Amino acid sequence: MATYEFLCSRCGPFDVKLAIGTAPAAYGCPHCAGSARRVYSSPGLRLTPHSVAALHQQEEQSRDAPAVVSEVPPGRRPPRRPHPALSRLPRP
Ligand SMILES: [Zn+2]
Repeated sequence: MATYEFLCSRCGPFDVKLAIGTAPAAYGCPHCAGSARRVYSSPGLRLTPHSVAALHQQEEQSRDAPAVVSEVPPGRRPPRRPHPALSRLPRP
């Protein structure tokens, strides 16, 4: 199912859910039963949460100009454990 937008000259825009590829050029208005023509608009990207949109924008920017760091950010350094083979070495 896909949502198609139609515009009635008297009542304004309305949405209709139809199977993909079956939208006619004109559809009956649910309010006045007049003929409404199909209109095309941008996809419903406004429904994307702000936090998700910000992450998408940050990811897109990092494609061309990735952030350069000179060291591991503080607090993210993994704990340092000695190699297990070191415990088997002879001690002086
Ligand atoms: Zn109408």
